[in-house]
Amino acid sequence: MTIGGLGGGQLGRMLALAGSPLGQRFIFLDPGQESCAGHVGDLRVGAYDDEERLAEISRRAEVITYEFENVPVASARYLAERVPVYPPPRALEVSQDRFLEKSFFEELGIPTAGFAKVDSREDLEAAVGRLGLPCVLKTRRFGYDGKGQLVLRTIEDVTDGWSALGAAPLIVERFVAFDREASVVAVRGRDGEVRAYPMVENEHAEGILRVSRPASPAITPAMQATGEGYARRILDALGYVGVLAIELFVVDGALVANEMAPRVHNSGHWSIEGADTSQFENHVRAITGMPLGSTRLRGPCAMVNVLGRMPPREEILRIERAHLHVYGKGAGDGSARGSRGGRKIGHVTVSAATRAELEETVAVVRAIVG
Ligand code: AMP
Repeated sequence: MTIGGLGGGQLGRMLALAGSPLGQRFIFLDPGQESCAGHVGDLRVGAYDDEERLAEISRRAEVITYEFENVPVASARYLAERVPVYPPPRALEVSQDRFLEKSFFEELGIPTAGFAKVDSREDLEAAVGRLGLPCVLKTRRFGYDGKGQLVLRTIEDVTDGWSALGAAPLIVERFVAFDREASVVAVRGRDGEVRAYPMVENEHAEGILRVSRPASPAITPAMQATGEGYARRILDALGYVGVLAIELFVVDGALVANEMAPRVHNSGHWSIEGADTSQFENHVRAITGMPLGSTRLRGPCAMVNVLGRMPPREEILRIERAHLHVYGKGAGDGSARGSRGGRKIGHVTVSAATRAELEETVAVVRAIVG
């Protein structure tokens, strides 16, 4: 089968690497000429709303998916009139807009931080009055990795925040004094079967994911059950097919939903070596109507992101039970996601016999990765 992918970054690349052994072929659409999914699949260079390109993909692919949530919903809908598109375009629409997304969580009874839509300076002041300080002001759309958001702690910050972000539609949220951050990655098949991976504890710095630890000691069975339940509600409500990730805050053992990603997720990369079936393979299985695979964790495991600069590869390859993934993003990758300094250029998965051993190796990898 040929799978069409909107977005040709590392997520598309890893989907193709997982789908190839199942006999699947891939064609990607991405505006960047050097898009790294093009090394392992066919790449068409063009804008996500280039109708000629979209028509070509819809002729060549038997099913279409995306690896980037900011592709225009209109493009996904255009394609969906011609060929099955999974996850459904509605999932894309909800996750592109923080206000729609949080309202959707609320409708499903999934806890979120208190929030309000902000379309004017008066809205902002009223919302801050209601929610209290500190709070977080965010653009409704096109935010990622902490971009397009500011923490407001004082009345002066409210004025400055409005000056900095007020040109775009905004949302303001109560600041969550979380103990840690976590995520649930789950998959739903075309037949409605849902399987969740062990919940992941995520360590961020400057808004960017650094380390993910599936089934870390901080994740209790109750948290796992609650997180899985939230994922199931979202997946069923959307008639979803494919992998979905939900990012959560952990506060006193309770889970507060922050956002969702209608795609394979960075906090699920560990599953390539660490689970019976990776998130990438399960996404491919789901969208092609195949049976889902086991999401069981094989043993203690963690993932460390490589940002900005690739260290000497030998240093990582010498470490027992460390697996290096280099995304092959060229300097000429002109995509919006690839042009930043702290960009994700690879990751390392570490497996170990015990948690203590795992943390020792994670520390070694982090020292190399910097
Ligand atoms: P986001 O772009 O929504 O994923 O936010 C990026 C990061 O900012 C999150 O991973 C949190 O570390 C932090 N953050 C976002 N929203 C809040 C909030 N309401 N309260 C506290 N921290 C937040």
